[in-house]
Amino acid sequence: MHASTDLRPDLDRLAPFASPDRVDPVLQEFLHRASDQLCNWIGAASEGLPLPTVRPQPAVAPTAAGLEMDRLLKDLQLVMEGAYQPSHPGALAHLDPPPLTASIAADLICAGLNNNLLAEELSPGLSDLEQRLCRWFCQRLGLPEQSGGVLASGGTLSNLMGLVVARTHAGARDGVILCSCDAHVSLQKAATVMGLPNEALLRLPVDASGGLSLAGLNSVLSDLRHAGRRCLAVVATAGTTVRGAVDPLDAIARICRREEVWLHVDAAIGGVFALWEPLAPLMEGLHRADSITVNPQKLLGITKTSSMLLLRDRSLLRKAFATGLPYMESPCGDDHGGEVGLQGTRPAEVLKLWLGLRQLGIEGIGAVLESALERKAMLKQLLEDDRLLLLDGGLHLLAFRPRQDDPVVSARWTEQTRRELMRQGFLLSRPRYDGHHWLKVVLGNPHTTRAHLMQLAGLITQQLTD
Ligand SMILES: *Cc1c(COP(=O)(O)O)cnc(C)c1O
Repeated sequence: MHASTDLRPDLDRLAPFASPDRVDPVLQEFLHRASDQLCNWIGAASEGLPLPTVRPQPAVAPTAAGLEMDRLLKDLQLVMEGAYQPSHPGALAHLDPPPLTASIAADLICAGLNNNLLAEELSPGLSDLEQRLCRWFCQRLGLPEQSGGVLASGGTLSNLMGLVVARTHAGARDGVILCSCDAHVSLQKAATVMGLPNEALLRLPVDASGGLSLAGLNSVLSDLRHAGRRCLAVVATAGTTVRGAVDPLDAIARICRREEVWLHVDAAIGGVFALWEPLAPLMEGLHRADSITVNPQKLLGITKTSSMLLLRDRSLLRKAFATGLPYMESPCGDDHGGEVGLQGTRPAEVLKLWLGLRQLGIEGIGAVLESALERKAMLKQLLEDDRLLLLDGGLHLLAFRPRQDDPVVSARWTEQTRRELMRQGFLLSRPRYDGHHWLKVVLGNPHTTRAHLMQLAGLITQQLTD
């Protein structure tokens, strides 16, 4: 079958669709030149700053006649110059590490394949790959035979889906959801989307290490029982956003089992530690959860977005989300992707996850995790100073502020210090926590060396004396 050109006279000049008859020269040149630009951008990362000082504003509206490749590549360059640069060794503010090379390549292929995980007939091999990769995660985390999962465009969606499954399983409309006061804001969104009143999300106290207080959990569950109110789910966090604290998963799981309450673990940050045996004890008890959110985009360098919801009993996904897809053939495999999650059309995000993990290998995953913890330990040691208060929850995050218990002092100091560090090529974040502003360092960037950390600590200490 040869495509004729007579139905598309205006399109031929730009050749915006690649030829189905031969290797398309425009596509090939476009990809080569665009990837050269990208390689240059990444390769020059350490010459600039993590946050660019320019904010280019490329024209937005499509022109009447459409643009040639040269002009489009220039526009792309402009956008790149104004982008956050995760590959800069001083990019330490958030859970947004440099991308893995295999993940970048897989993302490109994903775009070119343009398959759709909504239905098996639109993504035959990729649907299967997603299910098998989710099962591999489940096995690695120690979940039982019937477990499985689904990929989602971010942890916010994974958490929402986990809670929707919990509620469907409970066979109820209303009830409360329990989590710690340090749990992620996405749980509030989930409760809102689920139509629950604001009070339905109960935030319980944390102990000194930042983990959910077991005494608090026990007492609230008992109060609820006496009041005849239903608990839809307990959400434990494995890696809180500000201090990287891990709730006592094993003990919480036992309590949930006793109370017959669903346990969802928001392991968006910490879940990947369970993939590497020597560090898996950090996630002890994770395998007892009913549902788990994991975000490989946050530390392993899988390109965004990469999140997954894992279920102890995979069939519950279908029970919560299947509508029937009357315009699709039945799948040969277990399910259509659109029948086991909230999203309809979605890209094959599994590709960059799968290829990225294959590139790292188990030992590479271990090296990413171990080195992040080592950098945290090193910076923590460098910042041991009577004038600083440090918060370390056990993962690769570290927060600190002046010890003086005056919120005005910490607000001013963190603001000034952040600005000065930014000038020197270090991007830290400045969360509000416990009535104060803090500076937060996320040590997941593999390009950050010992020398960088010594320089960073030196600059911070300098700010204390000034
Ligand atoms: C980042 C994060 C989320 C939300 O994930 P997104 O991918 O940003 O939607 C949820 N929970 C925790 C603990 C997180 O750190």
